[in-house]
Amino acid sequence: MTSSDNNKFIKDWIRPLQKSLTIETENKYINTLGIKKYFNDYLHESLTRLDNLNLSDEYLRIFSEFSRKYNEYNKLDVNQRKRLIIDTRKSLYKLGRSLEIESNNISHVVLLNKTDSRLSLDSDISLIKNVGKVYKNKLNELGIFNIKDLINYFPRTYLDYTNRVKIINLRPDNLYTCIANIKRFYIHKSTKNSNLSIMNFVVSDETSSIKVTKFFFGRRFRSYSFFASQKSLYTPGTKLAISGKVKSTDYGKTFVDPQIEILKDNNDNFNFSGKILPLYSLAEALPNMSFIKLMKKVLIYAKQYPEILNQKQRDSLSLMSKGESLINIHLPSTQQALIDSKKRLVFDELFLLQIKFLLRKKKINKNLIAKQLPQKKSLLKEFLNTFPFKLTKSQVNVLDEIKNDLSNPTPMARLLQGDVGSGKTIIAMASLLIVVEKNLQGALMVPTEVLAEQHYKNLLKYLNPLLVSVELLTGNTPQKKRKEIISNLKNGLIDILVGTHAIFEDKVIFSSLGMVVIDEQHRFGVNQRNRLLNKGDNTNLLSMTATPIPRTLALSIYGDLDVSQITELPPGRVPITTKIVSEDDLNSLFKIIDDQVTSGRQAYVILPLIEDSEKMNLSSAKKTFEYLSEEVFYDKKVGLLHGKLNTQEKNEVINSFLKNEINILVSTTVIEVGIDVPNATIMIIYNSERFGLSQLHQLRGRVGRGSTKSFCYLLTSDKNGLENKRLCVLQKSNDGFYIAEKDLELRGPGQILGYRQSGLPDFVLENLPNNKFLIEKAREEAIEVVSNDPDLKSNIVLRNMLIDNSDNKFIHDFLN
Ligand code: ADP
Ligand code: MG
Repeated sequence: MTSSDNNKFIKDWIRPLQKSLTIETENKYINTLGIKKYFNDYLHESLTRLDNLNLSDEYLRIFSEFSRKYNEYNKLDVNQRKRLIIDTRKSLYKLGRSLEIESNNISHVVLLNKTDSRLSLDSDISLIKNVGKVYKNKLNELGIFNIKDLINYFPRTYLDYTNRVKIINLRPDNLYTCIANIKRFYIHKSTKNSNLSIMNFVVSDETSSIKVTKFFFGRRFRSYSFFASQKSLYTPGTKLAISGKVKSTDYGKTFVDPQIEILKDNNDNFNFSGKILPLYSLAEALPNMSFIKLMKKVLIYAKQYPEILNQKQRDSLSLMSKGESLINIHLPSTQQALIDSKKRLVFDELFLLQIKFLLRKKKINKNLIAKQLPQKKSLLKEFLNTFPFKLTKSQVNVLDEIKNDLSNPTPMARLLQGDVGSGKTIIAMASLLIVVEKNLQGALMVPTEVLAEQHYKNLLKYLNPLLVSVELLTGNTPQKKRKEIISNLKNGLIDILVGTHAIFEDKVIFSSLGMVVIDEQHRFGVNQRNRLLNKGDNTNLLSMTATPIPRTLALSIYGDLDVSQITELPPGRVPITTKIVSEDDLNSLFKIIDDQVTSGRQAYVILPLIEDSEKMNLSSAKKTFEYLSEEVFYDKKVGLLHGKLNTQEKNEVINSFLKNEINILVSTTVIEVGIDVPNATIMIIYNSERFGLSQLHQLRGRVGRGSTKSFCYLLTSDKNGLENKRLCVLQKSNDGFYIAEKDLELRGPGQILGYRQSGLPDFVLENLPNNKFLIEKAREEAIEVVSNDPDLKSNIVLRNMLIDNSDNKFIHDFLN
């Protein structure tokens, strides 16, 4: 093999590795599931098989060390994973670069005068002019390796200096740009801080004058030569553009630490002032200004960015080109240009996601292969007969939809939305039974141990008489028991497995997994869900949530799921009364609790912290428990529950509460999801302003589960608590949908969903509230594209982009 053959060989080996490292980085180090393997297994294996690459001993050593670490990847925390990936990317780049330099040396004559045409989106950043080793390393730490990475590093926010006004019109606390002449200038060393120099000017225009202060930190700014250089720069009469925040100080209005630019000629051609200035999240010692300069050098390559929409599509959607949008997201010429570029970038992500959903759906429909086995017995009927209630109309409808799905050969993929307390558990149990009837296994996945335990008990109670075998697997299941469960599961002796994240583990293998039910699905990520589904072939999925997501958002995020809704609560429920209460009124609240408990009811007292903390002035569960059990309710049974108790202790507390052996349960938010004690009718939430709206609604849902009138008191120490918008929403409404809409309005989807759940980048989530209308548009456009061109044969750029960036095995199977 010649050396250039070998180089090509190595490059072909590097490229897919780099791709998967990029994907894992974009997925925030969740150990992405690839076409056939998990990310870490793929890396581990690829970095071991090096025999025919002819690498130097040094690289062999480095890569085998990496390989070993990827084998242990699951044990690393996020930061360790990030570190490992950055190191790997660095080494691969270095190796790739060394090959390029070798080959460049050979063809050096041809390339000599075309330095810049050598650059493309995929070029290493070290090839950019003036990017030295130190700078390159700093960029690498931010995950920026090539020009494409750099262009995709969007600003965190912007400073808008386009607001140009005369000095007389400046108002404190706003951002402005002023053009003015220097009247007086002086610079001195701070007497209080030996590291600080302070520069002061007075500047004026035809309307008035104003003071400008700038601070310089660091010894070198205290030298005589620095002072002299500044004095010669800022001579009286010099024309300046000053951009920044105006504050009101003892000396009147002042520009404090603004951007200052000296205007050489008389036109307004400034560099930064007077513009919209991007601010990036950068590591220390990487100044924003130098980063902008770097960005300016590479933005020309944005025009090479693959364009997935043709002119006609862009016109009909009123979207700018991809290249333009990338330039304007970094250096917007106007606010409108910024808005338009965000619109285009958000659209692209939504559009790609919708295309993926559509392809995935098609793929599933194409391979009608859900397992169809003879029915074992009529478990469902028996179960519904023994259940003490009649199903609500809504529950019946939803169950019909599910039955219908399950009688189809296509696997079910359904999202069940139902407000807190609407009775989703029974639907989960019924669905699992339909699958068990067909001799398949079911898994019920829940986010907390406490909830897993509760579901497990319920299932035992109703299903053991039907001879259905149920087991519970959590992180705290003893080793011996775990082994037994894993072996029985493999042999098909277990029908239904309930559990927490422990079920995801690779060791947990089903003999024939037919259905996965995910309770409180907003607590899990898309990838976790897929991981579990992949333990069976074309497994049915029922995903349940009490945090209803408005339809538009649901479309963008769960476009691949059908949606069912339970729209009513079981009969006889009396709406919960919610009140915002000041902490001064605690004593009268305690009186109310006392009355309720005396008449046989139970109460929750919820706190944001387990223990008192010096940093935060919040109430803690332990302190409050002491106070309540010893002083206020000394004649009642008070219990304490929090996340630091071990499994057995938790179970004991919850069981006692269930049996009404504990009257008042002091707890942290560990009871937030799912806990069902119908006799509890009163809840007090301390520091309620600290919780999210949907979270408060979930917490409140622990009461009002029986037919007795229930109360929820939202305590707040916040002086404006009574005006607190969020709390008022809760006081006003018991409707989970309305509350979710408001939560979305007040906090934005980024906060509510986060990357893990949605699979959308933070950038999109942050900008979604202003671009909601794009969701429908993206969906329509995706439907149009896929129905006209099902294999994307004439949408090559789109096709390549999907194959390139996709960790979704459906896409690969479909398009390859
Ligand atoms: P969630 O939807 O919040 O998970 P659960 O499934 O825990 O709600 O149900 C809440 C309570 O309502 C439970 O005590 C359950 O037994 C009861 N329940 C469920 N369905 C009905 C029904 N059709 N009629 C009366 N009570 C019901
Ligand atoms: Mg529930």
